[in-house]
Amino acid sequence: MSDWKNLVRDVPDFPKTGVGFKDIMPVLADADAFADAIDALAAPWRDARIDAVMAIEARGFLLGAPLARTFGCGVVPVRKPGKLPGPVLEARYALEYGEDALQVQADAVAPGARVLLVDDVLATGGTLAAARALADGLGAEIVGASVLMELAFLGGRSRWNGTAPLHAAWTI
Ligand code: 5GP
Repeated sequence: MSDWKNLVRDVPDFPKTGVGFKDIMPVLADADAFADAIDALAAPWRDARIDAVMAIEARGFLLGAPLARTFGCGVVPVRKPGKLPGPVLEARYALEYGEDALQVQADAVAPGARVLLVDDVLATGGTLAAARALADGLGAEIVGASVLMELAFLGGRSRWNGTAPLHAAWTI
């Protein structure tokens, strides 16, 4: 088995000076590492009867779609504003400077659908909290969240409401 973690690359000063970025693209580019990473994301949820994976733009799409195939369920994109047609729900969240938002199509899942939220990295936790608010807005049952990497030193887990499990395949 390859160790996908060895392929995560540290990129200093990206996207801006002072930020140490974890680049997961080499994991996705390697067939064995990609498969192992998807397995690691899926492991806790294999018997969880997931109805839909809610995948967060943009790297979450690359993980969420194969994860949904693993579960045999559908995938729902959670996107930046202005990308999805039709009625949408929106959740705003604070950034270090300013604010951002995520949207989901209002009819993306049926009320009561069992959903799993997926993203590549949990940093300060604002993105995942906003996606969670969207799932709540849809009336979904949030089974949990799965991220490839959790940057624990940024404390994002504290913004995750504790009622559903948050799984990180790798915590640093
Ligand atoms: P948060 O809202 O938790 O601060 O940031 C998480 C979001 O920003 C995720 O959607 C993730 O894709 C992106 N992100 C933040 N830091 C990193 C990083 O170091 N590496 C990668 N790949 N994504 C990051």
